[in-house]
Amino acid sequence: NPATDRVGKIGFHDAAALRAAGGTVRIHGISKSFGALKVLDDIELSLPAGSVTAILGPSGSGKSTLLRAINHLERVDNGFISVDGELVGYAQKGDALYELKEKDILKRRADIGMVFQSFNLFPHLTVLENLIEAPIQVRRIGREEAAQLALELLARIGLSDKVNAYPRQLSGGQQQRVAIARALALKPKVLLFDEPTSALDPELVGEVLDVIKELARTGTTLLIVTHEIGFAREVADTVVFMESGKILEAGPPARIFNEAEHPRTREFLAKVL
Ligand code: ADP
Ligand code: MG
Repeated sequence: NPATDRVGKIGFHDAAALRAAGGTVRIHGISKSFGALKVLDDIELSLPAGSVTAILGPSGSGKSTLLRAINHLERVDNGFISVDGELVGYAQKGDALYELKEKDILKRRADIGMVFQSFNLFPHLTVLENLIEAPIQVRRIGREEAAQLALELLARIGLSDKVNAYPRQLSGGQQQRVAIARALALKPKVLLFDEPTSALDPELVGEVLDVIKELARTGTTLLIVTHEIGFAREVADTVVFMESGKILEAGPPARIFNEAEHPRTREFLAKVL
């Protein structure tokens, strides 16, 4: 049993303590390899409730894999992740840990919203249908209530007039704002963004960053992979620099951007600033 093997490596009591910690996302000692390539190497990271964390790092450093691991889209080889006191992908029974079944993983995943670079809206559904699909299917709430929440979210992102539009009728920036609203419709405990503005024309980046800033102000716990340095400086509580599957350093933006300790961080920032 792979879960039991992993419990052996981390120690059951560590996993239980992690699970009991609650209130935050806790990433404890996770590693992940693809064949001989170690993509995540003993990652430790904690996201306090309501915090905003920005992840920077060169292409291939493991940023997307880390986000996918938090959502259990990627199964890690070692270590554990908890979201609001629940282990991601695992459940505890007595003194044993079990890997969750696919349908229970789907339920847990609803607590962890994810917004991708490529919007990923359902092209054959209207904006409203995109927003109510998962709440009805996964959260089992009624259509009326789901539609009510969807309309509130559309008002919040300034797209009330697009309720019956199809994704292809929207600009990239509008599509990405709808994708954010769709993630919020599940009332997630944390929202993960993987380069949310990288696929956008430059003039559309601002409207998406404004929506994310508003989420930050209203206390949503956010983890954002981004190359938008100005945005990270303004919005993030903590900036994390990753390279080759490791967190090289993490700290408040003022420190990371002005006086990074690690030469690789300074080199990277010099290229992107
Ligand atoms: P980043 O998001 O920082 O650019 P990724 O997490 O996407 O980095 O990828 C990190 C490394 O893992 C890269 O070398 C990538 O090629 C590799 N990788 C990612 N996913 C897979 C996979 N499913 N199979 C094999 N290698 C992968
Ligand atoms: Mg990536």
